[in-house]
Amino acid sequence: MTVIGLDDTDSRERGMCTTYLAARIADGVRDAGGDVERLLLIRLNPAVKHKTRGNAALAIHTDLDPESAFELARKELETTAETDDPNTNPGLVIAPHTPENTPSEISDFARRAVRTLLSREEAERRIESAGYRHAGWKNARGKIGALAAVGSWNAFSAWTHEHISYRESEQWGTPRDVDVDSVFEASNVEYPTVWDTVDRGTGEAVCIPHTPCPILYGIRGDDPDAVRRVATKIEGEPVTRTALFVTNQGTDAHLRDGTLGEVEQNRAYRITGTVVSKPETRRGGHVFFTLASESDTESESKSTDNLPCAAFEPTKRFRDHVRNLRPGDEITVCGEVSRGTLKLEKFAVRSLKITELVTPNCPECRRSMKSAGAGQGYRCRGCKTQADGKVEQEIERELESGWYEVPPEARRHIAKPLVRGGFDGETHPER
Ligand code: ATP
Repeated sequence: MTVIGLDDTDSRERGMCTTYLAARIADGVRDAGGDVERLLLIRLNPAVKHKTRGNAALAIHTDLDPESAFELARKELETTAETDDPNTNPGLVIAPHTPENTPSEISDFARRAVRTLLSREEAERRIESAGYRHAGWKNARGKIGALAAVGSWNAFSAWTHEHISYRESEQWGTPRDVDVDSVFEASNVEYPTVWDTVDRGTGEAVCIPHTPCPILYGIRGDDPDAVRRVATKIEGEPVTRTALFVTNQGTDAHLRDGTLGEVEQNRAYRITGTVVSKPETRRGGHVFFTLASESDTESESKSTDNLPCAAFEPTKRFRDHVRNLRPGDEITVCGEVSRGTLKLEKFAVRSLKITELVTPNCPECRRSMKSAGAGQGYRCRGCKTQADGKVEQEIERELESGWYEVPPEARRHIAKPLVRGGFDGETHPER
């Protein structure tokens, strides 16, 4: 068995897509008499700055011998990768073993590639010591992703599927002709096994990219037959090629459980804390609030572990739920921390603050009482009534207990949609 890993072949402006290249290599393997066991589409750390879009890396599991696989993949990368783009630095790694027999340090590298930032030097060192064939173009940064793709089969246990349909090459870069009604109809039949195909809130077909890449649409879900069924029901321009990928999309593989006060930049966390500032909408429509440990609730300024959290404008209606948070609410937030701020992907309400202390009203005239001086309670001058201190008043809350998430349109590839289940609490899925 042979595992072919590849990454960093496409360009934001010029198009191409590493999944397309993997699909072509898989065809080449079959033409050479080999069998393709599966194609893996791995989403690596979304915090990587030099990613083109979704930080994807690809692996092909095949019985073709390593030497032939290397030659075939090398030729394909040489002719198809968009190396004219200064930011495209392809990498190719060939492992001469079954995916199950991957050495543990290579699987560990894959796990870390999803959750931390790694160097090309480390990738090259590990490639050498594992004795893998490899090739790189330009600065060869793609070897990081290519090695991670090789190691990923043993690194993760949760898998989903994506069925991708590709356009005729003459059409690349032109507007896509897809019947959006047929996308909605097909995805409604298979929902929720097939998820994030459309955004029912905005009417967008999320499965159709807006980039100049070769993809016409990609259908994601839990079941390979269901994603294939949806893809075949969609009407539109001709499809030249399709491929089914096993992926870590929609699995939250990037999240680690963390605590406030020990977060590191460019990592993604699941962290529980207390809201200590009123959510504030800033210029551009981004909504910010601060999370802190429970003990810090009373004094935001004293806290050493304040974590600013943001729901950015593209998360659209999710921001309404964030705006409904109040100081004192206990929540769990999920998202990547970069430049000191956690970018919210989802959050869970653990407990809501449902009462607040307010200045009492006079029992006679119902008007707000005035302070009677420091530590002396309140009084109503007119009615001569008195009260010892503030009184508790119920707060009307829009939020309920449980998980809230960004809409499909704003979902990160690797983030797990609530509709997939397995969450610790009620869920309020976006469809
Ligand atoms: P596409 O998904 O459209 O093919 P992309 O968003 O995957 O593009 P790439 O062009 O592959 O982006 O660029 C990502 C680069 O980052 C690759 O060179 C890859 O090797 C590297 N990389 C991936 N994960 C890490 C990581 N954890 N640390 C450092 N570099 C990484």
